[in-house]
Amino acid sequence: MGLGKNKWAVLDYIRIGLFGPPPNTIGGIDVTYRCNLTCKHCYFHKQQYYEELSLEQWTEKFDLLQQNGFPFMICGWLGGEPLLRKRLIEIGKRYFKTNVIFTNGTVSLPDWPDVSFSVSVHGTEEFYYRMTGAPEGSYEKIKQNVNRPGLDVVISCCITRINHTCIEEMLDEWHNTHVKGIAFEFYTPMKGEGKELWLDWEERDRIIDQITSLRKTYGDLIWFSDRAYRLMRSDMAPSITNNCPFRKIGFAWDPMGRPKNPCQLGPLADCSRCGCILPFYSAILTNKRLLIGEFYGGVLYRIKRGWSMK
Ligand code: SF4
Ligand code: SF4
Repeated sequence: MGLGKNKWAVLDYIRIGLFGPPPNTIGGIDVTYRCNLTCKHCYFHKQQYYEELSLEQWTEKFDLLQQNGFPFMICGWLGGEPLLRKRLIEIGKRYFKTNVIFTNGTVSLPDWPDVSFSVSVHGTEEFYYRMTGAPEGSYEKIKQNVNRPGLDVVISCCITRINHTCIEEMLDEWHNTHVKGIAFEFYTPMKGEGKELWLDWEERDRIIDQITSLRKTYGDLIWFSDRAYRLMRSDMAPSITNNCPFRKIGFAWDPMGRPKNPCQLGPLADCSRCGCILPFYSAILTNKRLLIGEFYGGVLYRIKRGWSMK
């Protein structure tokens, strides 16, 4: 729920609550340009990267940033498939307070209890194959790979026109496993793209209503808060994405360590139809009233699960 496994102290939340998040609070690094899948909804392949910084070059970059007071708070490790390059994450994660690895789950998850894994599973078995084009047998393999009691794993599902009918079945399938939750986001089209994958606003609102009402049955297995989903509705979303708060507090670096604009999705992304959770959580982080609500919800959540505040 929210920020994932982290080394934040209560003081960090209070500091952000009082002064707002500093620039570069939250961001993402493209660990590699390589990936072993060819998903239908992939924005990354459209960006056409064919090279990446070496381990030494990334270490130099992190050290230099550290000397210059970079906050090193929340980092998403992305790609390509980031676990094709575990060593870079192993080095880089030591710099950040919160690390989330965004993997497609086809590579075995390393025993890293200090990070959260966001594993892309875009639907139940039938829809998963239609979305990803993964080779036969991958779905069962991923399920075994991620169902690990010692790790902090959340399933990430990008809702598109292809898979939007299987939300309840997914929740039902995963609710008796070791995964902590399912994070439902919506597909963000590229500029000029039609409705092949994108769901229009009316459909999106209906699905948000479905997700929030499924909370009565599945509780915290639905990973993002209802507050975040409310912001994703058609009456709220454009006012947030038209002036996306991520641009003020976020960073995004490509496999060569260069900044990506306006975010990890790159310059082709159609912000006016963004379905990524990032702008909405960034809106919460930058709004005191919403942040207090989220923090309070998070505390209750941890008490319920018996987690400490660290
Ligand atoms: S796993 Fe990620 S990077 Fe790879 S094809 Fe799918 S969406 Fe793209
Ligand atoms: S694509 Fe979404 S997250 Fe990226 S800058 Fe646009 S609105 Fe923000």
